[in-house]
Amino acid sequence: MTTPASRLAEARRLVVKIGSSILVDEGPGEVRRTWFEALCDDIARLASGGREIVLVSSGAIRLGRTLLRLPGGALRLEESQAAAAAGQIRLAHAYQESLARRGLTAAQVLLTLDDSEERRRYLNARQTMTTLLTLGAIPVINENDTVATDEIRFGDNDRLAARVAEMVSADTLLLLSDIDGLYTADPRSDAAASFIPEVRTITPEIEAMAGGAASELSNGGMATKLTAARIATGAGCRMAIADGRPVGAIAALLDGPGRATWFLPESTPLSARKKWIAGSLKPAGSLTVDDGAVRALAAGKSLLPAGVRAVEGGFRRGDVVEVRDSAGRALARGLVAYAADDARRIAGHKSAEIESLVGYRGRDEMIHRDDLVVDQA
Ligand code: GLU
Repeated sequence: MTTPASRLAEARRLVVKIGSSILVDEGPGEVRRTWFEALCDDIARLASGGREIVLVSSGAIRLGRTLLRLPGGALRLEESQAAAAAGQIRLAHAYQESLARRGLTAAQVLLTLDDSEERRRYLNARQTMTTLLTLGAIPVINENDTVATDEIRFGDNDRLAARVAEMVSADTLLLLSDIDGLYTADPRSDAAASFIPEVRTITPEIEAMAGGAASELSNGGMATKLTAARIATGAGCRMAIADGRPVGAIAALLDGPGRATWFLPESTPLSARKKWIAGSLKPAGSLTVDDGAVRALAAGKSLLPAGVRAVEGGFRRGDVVEVRDSAGRALARGLVAYAADDARRIAGHKSAEIESLVGYRGRDEMIHRDDLVVDQA
């Protein structure tokens, strides 16, 4: 039987979003220590099962508010930015220290909206995060609130977490919140509200249900969680909303009796990403490859610079390009790791020569296989 426990246990690459209202207590405005230690125990337990974990943690502004002794009530933009600057370092320290005691290395990544929406920066952020995961570290991510102004902000970490899940091709996203999931109506005001354990399609009815259940303690109400669910499931990632307030909330999900609302995708992360690449509009250029590369692509391998014979077009790094065989037939599409000028310089050369040809140590692949969609012959 598929249960919340088995769904979470199945995760191989998991993003956990931790909301401000569960991390920081309302009174002194400090990290909830006992709760936080239990969270780090849970993270260590998940990681020891061979899972790759990414944390998206809020709390910088709330912690910074305490540290800078800012008054209650709404903060002005520059006050929030100042609070984030003071609070983020506190937040990062808490993770670094508590995870280190469990033998885990935390690595801070601060993102802005552009990092997920602008293709080149998206590729950079993706590469950095997947490298951290490969090296066994736990990326601890937040929005870069000190430089992000309202127009260029995610604003809420539910959406940021979903973008991160999309970026790293995570299979599971867990939103730990101060509500335990989606109800047919607001459970605080409607006694007839019933809990929804599973959502396969986000219908207008589901959207209407999310209307009233916003939490007053954080920016992310139910509506932002649905937006996150749409992004995550669109990227082939399942998403759960669970109550993160109890001590050991993840353990409760894994061992019972924890409950969650699960949003289930139709595809897997890799197929969703490839669909996006295949469906992209006009390619910005093309690469003509030799027969060896044609065979490598057919075998599911990456395209290396050595196999590239000619480069056409004025594309930039991260653009979609078409891959052609020597007869000019289109074989594949992919996100190219080099701008056209550099691609021309390294075409036909071994990956080990890249640095001496372009002056920096770039990627070994011209197009990585995860970024490549080969046409079915
Ligand atoms: N990035 C903000 C912070 O760390 C929080 C945004 C949110 O709670 O969704 O304080």
